[in-house]
Amino acid sequence: MVIEVVRIGQRVVRDDRVTTHVALVSRAFGCSKIFMTEVNPEIKDTLEKINKTWGGDFVVEFIDNWKSIVKMKKVDYKIVHLTMYGESINDVDEQLGKEENLLIVVGAEKVPREIYELADYNVGIGSQPHSEISALAILLDRIQKGNQFKNSFSNARRKIIPTKKGKNVIVAERRD
Ligand code: SAM
Repeated sequence: MVIEVVRIGQRVVRDDRVTTHVALVSRAFGCSKIFMTEVNPEIKDTLEKINKTWGGDFVVEFIDNWKSIVKMKKVDYKIVHLTMYGESINDVDEQLGKEENLLIVVGAEKVPREIYELADYNVGIGSQPHSEISALAILLDRIQKGNQFKNSFSNARRKIIPTKKGKNVIVAERRD
């Protein structure tokens, strides 16, 4: 399954930290790419540094227009819009898990109305307002049933060996 994310909405610039965390969750929970508009270019640098240290090739792409990405992807992706007004995750998680390609849309402060119509699924992680970070993490976990944590991240300089106490980290020899 290929999963990508797009962050839309107004005031994204004022939400740099949240946007960075949306990107970090996307990467750590099995997505291959995030599209974002109007953001601080440092977010891309942060994610590239994370890739270098912890591996993988997660991509951050800046876009001018979220709508054209959503319309383009709609050809071979199902569009999942995370919104507290949507149908319950409990009713759609099985179906979403069977889809081949997903583009997950998360909002910022205000979400354009059109996205509700463009989406194949409007999905609520409960019907109370919380956060795009928590909503995205729970959606990704439900869809992949925890299997995202079995993914390996190629060319990592550091790899954590899960341990009951303390820290066990393998550090690869530098190749450059
Ligand atoms: N009232 C705002 C709206 O939907 O227009 C809420 C914005 S909230 C700060 C930012 C984003 O978090 C939302 O666009 C949505 O993607 C996500 N979100 C927040 N609560 C959610 C929930 N209960 N279920 C699904 N997504 C949620």
